[in-house]
Amino acid sequence: MLYSSDILALIKSRNPIEAVMGQTVALKRAGRDFKCCCPFHSEKTPSCVVRPEEQYFHCFGCGAGGDVFNFVMRRDGLTYPEAIRELASRSGIDLPDYQNGENFANAPARTDIFAANREAAKFYYETLINSPLAEKGRRYFNERGLSPVTVKKFGLGFALNQWDALSKFLLGKGHTEEVLIAAQLCRNGKNGGLYDFFRDRVMFPIIDTRGNVIGFGGRIIDTDGPKYINTPETPVFHKGKSLFAHNFARKTTADELILAEGYMDVIALHQAGFDNAVATLGTALTPDSAREIVRTREQVVIAYDADAAGQAAAEKAIKLLSAAGGRTRILKTVDAKDPDEYIKKFGADKFRQLIRNSENAVTFKLKQCENGLDLDVPAEKAEYIKRAAKVLAQIDSDIEREIYINEVAKQTLIPIDSIKHEAAKNIKKTENTRESREWNDLVTKTALNSNTGSKEERAENAVFEFLLKNPEKTQEMAQRICSDDFVSEFGKVVFEKLTEISKNYVDFDISLLLAELSPEFSDKIITIYENSNMTQRNEAEAYEFADRLKNSKIPQNEDEFLKAFNL
Ligand SMILES: [Zn+2]
Repeated sequence: MLYSSDILALIKSRNPIEAVMGQTVALKRAGRDFKCCCPFHSEKTPSCVVRPEEQYFHCFGCGAGGDVFNFVMRRDGLTYPEAIRELASRSGIDLPDYQNGENFANAPARTDIFAANREAAKFYYETLINSPLAEKGRRYFNERGLSPVTVKKFGLGFALNQWDALSKFLLGKGHTEEVLIAAQLCRNGKNGGLYDFFRDRVMFPIIDTRGNVIGFGGRIIDTDGPKYINTPETPVFHKGKSLFAHNFARKTTADELILAEGYMDVIALHQAGFDNAVATLGTALTPDSAREIVRTREQVVIAYDADAAGQAAAEKAIKLLSAAGGRTRILKTVDAKDPDEYIKKFGADKFRQLIRNSENAVTFKLKQCENGLDLDVPAEKAEYIKRAAKVLAQIDSDIEREIYINEVAKQTLIPIDSIKHEAAKNIKKTENTRESREWNDLVTKTALNSNTGSKEERAENAVFEFLLKNPEKTQEMAQRICSDDFVSEFGKVVFEKLTEISKNYVDFDISLLLAELSPEFSDKIITIYENSNMTQRNEAEAYEFADRLKNSKIPQNEDEFLKAFNL
């Protein structure tokens, strides 16, 4: 295996399949997905689906399918590794040497990086609490109103204004230079030796949903320099993907997540009892982080700063979150610049009310349409209707659209039908219901019919349908059945690869599997993946199919069977 799942995920996040395919074929929206005429066989009506959420395409007509690398590989006549290198270089990602095909085994293990990060977080925390030199760090958190309990809960810390306090400590604990550099905790100095990446800053450890410390944010207090810096990209840390406080927020009992702008906002919210707050890591929301959020909760309350920049960012966030399938509401803090200040001024109960009263995205966008317009002036009212019609046209549900059309009508005193007419002009013909019904039929029917083949092959496919959706169960499955129990060559190869991947990687990414398969097998595995959305195999079913496969072997290898039982 030449590539790490992290680097593949990073390249994929910079080259979303819908964007890459969109350069070659015209994509049309179909709910959360896109449809298009297949780039690999000739047709007039679309039978190819692109699923942005899972980052693959599949043609119901000819069976072609795969991830973004498979697409580029097929389109440009490349091999899979060539397609990886092509997309990496196009998006400015340097593939480390070992991932150019040399020696992956030499790269520091993720677990070593996690261990070094954890020890570093402890060191920063101990420094904050105990060091006489960390007085200003303590003062900073104290002035921001954080209790010692909160400081401990978030493991906040302080990086001393020294060149090698952390490096010396971690080397003394037995972590290697190589690991510290890979973790971006330290860097190589000009005259040899290491120096610390974070110095003279209060520290915010970033913890993933499995409890691993994956990186840090560091804020400067009173000296010059960039206000916040974050750990640069490492094998375990991707700024555009992870969320701050996701480790806590994923366990919330609240129905929604609160998306705040920065670390301090999030911490203040948690301290005030809102354990569902998260923030992105010093960058704007990305499609990846939007997906992470929506995967945790479909409902998202955006609580950005009240200033113009915050509101503009909120507008972008609405787009990304709805593209990821989320439903958004916008919270506006009146008489306070951000949620932190609001809670300090008015208390947690008022803030809870604010959440309850937060506007949904449509209302927010309709209000934005009023910007700079005086609705008492007829010409400006007409401009407002034009802008509002575009917002209305974007609403998927007919009933919901009706509700907002009524609201706009009430507000402007323009007849409902006129507004409807204006909105209808903006609704693209391609999205009409007849066409989308036909499309849905195609998707459902073909998916259910394509699971043909011998009984054994269908059992194999069912096992894979389950494992592709539940890759963490692969090892358990491997204890029941081995690749030799699979009847088809396809089954044997795929199961062997899946087992190998589950042994070597913490995170499963379907690209790890696709990288190992022939184009023919890739198409097949994507067809199975597509079917798995329909069949939703559960564990019990999957094990039953596995047992059948194992048993069907008995008559074929009677001798071996008898030998095995010493008969
Ligand atoms: Zn096709």
